[in-house]
Amino acid sequence: MMGTFVCKQMNRTFSGEGVETNALSDVTLTFKSGDFISIIGPSGSGKSTLLSLLGTLDVPSSGELYYNNQLLNKLKAKELADFRFEKVGFIFQQFHLIPTLTAVENVMSPLFGRKIDYNPKERALALLNRVGLSDKIDALPSQLSGGQQQRVAVARALIHEPEWMLADEPTGNLDSETGEVIFELLRELNREKGCGVICVTHDPGIAERAEVQVRMKDGEIIEVIDTRVTIHA
Ligand code: ADP
Ligand code: MG
Repeated sequence: MMGTFVCKQMNRTFSGEGVETNALSDVTLTFKSGDFISIIGPSGSGKSTLLSLLGTLDVPSSGELYYNNQLLNKLKAKELADFRFEKVGFIFQQFHLIPTLTAVENVMSPLFGRKIDYNPKERALALLNRVGLSDKIDALPSQLSGGQQQRVAVARALIHEPEWMLADEPTGNLDSETGEVIFELLRELNREKGCGVICVTHDPGIAERAEVQVRMKDGEIIEVIDTRVTIHA
């Protein structure tokens, strides 16, 4: 079953050297399964913090995070790892490929140590084909352009067929034309596979093309626009 994230009064505070930073303040928001959502806001507004919490890479200081009716805050590390493995794929600005592994090995890497009932290499090759990299399967990351590396990262994020793709400034390290290719790829995958996408960006041109646009400032959600909702006066 596809899942919806529900955040209730979620806060994330960082403390150190006597200073407290409210990276996230009272976020109450629903991310509906299958939606294509952008999160936009200036640097330091809490976008990455929110994405890390949704992806359960971090835990809120207070408040609740649910996936459907399951309260994620209560889960233990092992259960969270399983949750992530089943539900989410991540993409980052810096690609984060493993430098010593080839493209196809990078795509398979989330499956290492996991029991699966399919052929990992077959699936990895199909995904590399899907992102247009059939001719680069044995290339190391250092032999690939930034756009190609990000396409490998997209394929890797999809290997376990996640319900959500969480992308933190996936086009931030790419020229605008290459960034466009990656963004369109995410849109197509959202349509084809029905996986939800949350794309953090500070490019308004990209953000405004998402179905749902979330604007953040100083750790708060200041605006949510659902472009599919028509208000009848
Ligand atoms: P954005 O992704 O929108 O640029 P972040 O979520 O990275 O913003 O950061 C929000 C705020 O939280 C910033 O003030 C940042 O300095 C602070 N912050 C983020 N992560 C940490 C951390 N691990 N330790 C201390 N402060 C942090
Ligand atoms: Mg960030």
